[in-house]
Amino acid sequence: MNSPDPAPILDWYDRHARRLPWRVPPARSRKGERADPYHVWLSEVMLQQTTVAAVGPYFQKFLARWPRVQDLASAGLDEVLTAWAGLGYYARARNLHKCANAVVGEYGGVFPDTEYGLRALPGIGPYTAAAIASIAFDRHATPVDGNIERVMSRLYVVETPMPAAKPALRELAAGLTPSARPGDYVQAVMDLGATICTPRSPRCVICPWQGACKAFATGMTDVLPRRAPKPERPVRRAVAYWMVRGDGAVLLRRRPETGLLGGMMEVPSGPWEEVEMFRDAAPVKADWVELPGLVEHGFTHLRLELKVMAARIDGRSKADGVWIPVEKFGDHALPTLTRKVVRHALSHIGKGEAFS
Ligand code: SF4
Repeated sequence: MNSPDPAPILDWYDRHARRLPWRVPPARSRKGERADPYHVWLSEVMLQQTTVAAVGPYFQKFLARWPRVQDLASAGLDEVLTAWAGLGYYARARNLHKCANAVVGEYGGVFPDTEYGLRALPGIGPYTAAAIASIAFDRHATPVDGNIERVMSRLYVVETPMPAAKPALRELAAGLTPSARPGDYVQAVMDLGATICTPRSPRCVICPWQGACKAFATGMTDVLPRRAPKPERPVRRAVAYWMVRGDGAVLLRRRPETGLLGGMMEVPSGPWEEVEMFRDAAPVKADWVELPGLVEHGFTHLRLELKVMAARIDGRSKADGVWIPVEKFGDHALPTLTRKVVRHALSHIGKGEAFS
C-alpha cells in the first residue's frame, strides 16, 4: 500500500473541482486568476454550520448588494442581519459586519494575507484563518473541518472516537499539506470529503486516494470516524407572550446582546430555564389566553420548548419593545425561533383577531 501523497488528489482536483461561485478554477486552468479574499472570507463565514447548496444564493445576494468589503462595512447592521436571516447563528452576521469594518478601518480595505494576521480579525477563528490564508493567498496552511477529519480518519485508520481524535487528525492533515499549491490541495480534500469520501457509503472505487487508504484496505470505511455517544441535550422551557394592540400591531423586542440569539428580535419570552413546568413571567397584566401546543426549537447544546400565551394589550401599557404590524415583520431580521412563534400564534388566532 502507498503512503498518502498529495499528487493524486491534486490531479483529480484539476479534472473534477467543483464549480462554486466564490472559487477560481484549479491552477492548471485558471490562467493567473486569483481568488478574491473578500469572496473567500464571505463564503467561509457563511459555510460554517451551513451547506454549500444553502450558501450559494446568500453569497450571490450579498455580493450583488455589497460587491466590496467597503460596501459591506458601510451597510447598517440591521440590513446585514436581515439579509442573513435563514443562515442562522446571527452572532456570525454581527461578526461579519464587525470584521468588514475592521478590514476597512484598520487595514485600508485589504485583508491580511497570513493566518496570524487573519486571526486578529473579529469572528475569524483558526479554521477560517487557515482557509482564507490557503485558498486566497496560497499560504501553507491547513483548515480542518468535519469533511477533512473524516477523510484523515479513514486514510490513516484513526480509531479514537470524535471529538477526542481531533488533535491527532489535525496533525495528520497538516503533515500531508504540500508546499506547492496548498490552496488547491486544501480545496481538493474539501471536495473529496464532500463528494466521494462522504459520511455514508463513500465511493472508494473512484477515489484518487484509494491506493493509500488504510480504511479501504481493511474494510473499515463504514465505521470511521468513530463517535462517542452524544449526551442528551437539556430541555429549557419558557413562555412567550403574543401581545396584540387594538390596531393589530404585535409587540416584539430585541434580546440582550449576549447569549443565545443575542440582539435578535423575539416575541417577548420569560427566562429560558431548565424546569419541569412552564413558569409564567408575563411582562404586563392582561387576560392571557394559553394557545394549544408548543413551539419547539433545537440549539446546538439545548432544546427549547415555548408555550405561547396571547392577549390584547393597551398600546400605552409599560411592556418593553416595539409595536410592529404583522405585515411588516418581513422588514426585520427575525430568527427562525421567532418565526416559529409567529407562525404558531397566527395559526391559532389569526391577525389582530380578538380572543376570548
Ligand atoms: Fe475515503 Fe474510500 Fe477514498 Fe478511503 S478510499 S479516502 S474511505 S473514499
